[in-house]
Amino acid sequence: MAEPVYRRVVIKISGEYLAGSQGAGIDQPTVNRIASDLIAAKKLGAEIAVVVGGGNMVRGVEVSAQGVSRTTGDTMGMLATVMNCLALESAIERMGTPARALSAFVMPEICELFTRGAAHNYLAQGRIVLLGGGTGNPYFTTDTTAVLRAAEIDAQAVLKATNVDGVYSADPKKDPSAKRFERLTHSQAIEGGYKVMDATAFALARDTSLPIIVFSISEPGSIGAILRGTGRGTIVAG
Ligand code: UDP
Repeated sequence: MAEPVYRRVVIKISGEYLAGSQGAGIDQPTVNRIASDLIAAKKLGAEIAVVVGGGNMVRGVEVSAQGVSRTTGDTMGMLATVMNCLALESAIERMGTPARALSAFVMPEICELFTRGAAHNYLAQGRIVLLGGGTGNPYFTTDTTAVLRAAEIDAQAVLKATNVDGVYSADPKKDPSAKRFERLTHSQAIEGGYKVMDATAFALARDTSLPIIVFSISEPGSIGAILRGTGRGTIVAG
């Protein structure tokens, strides 16, 4: 079997995606499908860490608009990401592949604390590692978390799963004239203000020389295709 293009990656999966067509909460068939995609991708020989979002349950900005303080709202959002991690961890393990959820927060009854060493060890053991709790700090996103964790665990790329096949000049679902980019530099991605990821995430990736591949997870097997170098996506790299 051909070697994967990247030996170790961080895959960012939005919470919203886990809601499936329900729009909110956790859609178990969607979680199962992603779990089997992750397992198939791991079988290619890559080490896989996953940063999961929480937008299917709580976004700090949205709850703070209802009167909750922003930091509390963000904490609620970060806790939501832990729940999503547990859902994925459980689905992956049920399918017979070892996984391990690590959290940015100390919560010993629930899962182990993220440390660089723990992540390295579990990846080397062949587990799929689920990284919950975001960065552990308010005012950040799980996109930024994905880049931060990738830098910390010496990953070679961040795979940003979305529902479109790359970075576009405008939302292709709303604007048929939107242009798709094959490749962008981090600076071009920041200057273009493309909504696919926040500027903090792109800036950290630029500073740490990490490529980001933006691809669609809607097609089963797309993670594996990106790892084999045959997938369709936009490469954001310096
Ligand atoms: N969040 C945070 N700090 C982090 C990561 C996430 O405060 O480092 C909070 C923030 O409120 C965010 C929520 O967690 O809205 C869910 O994360 P995100 O919006 O990135 O999830 P996604 O849109 O990918 O599902």
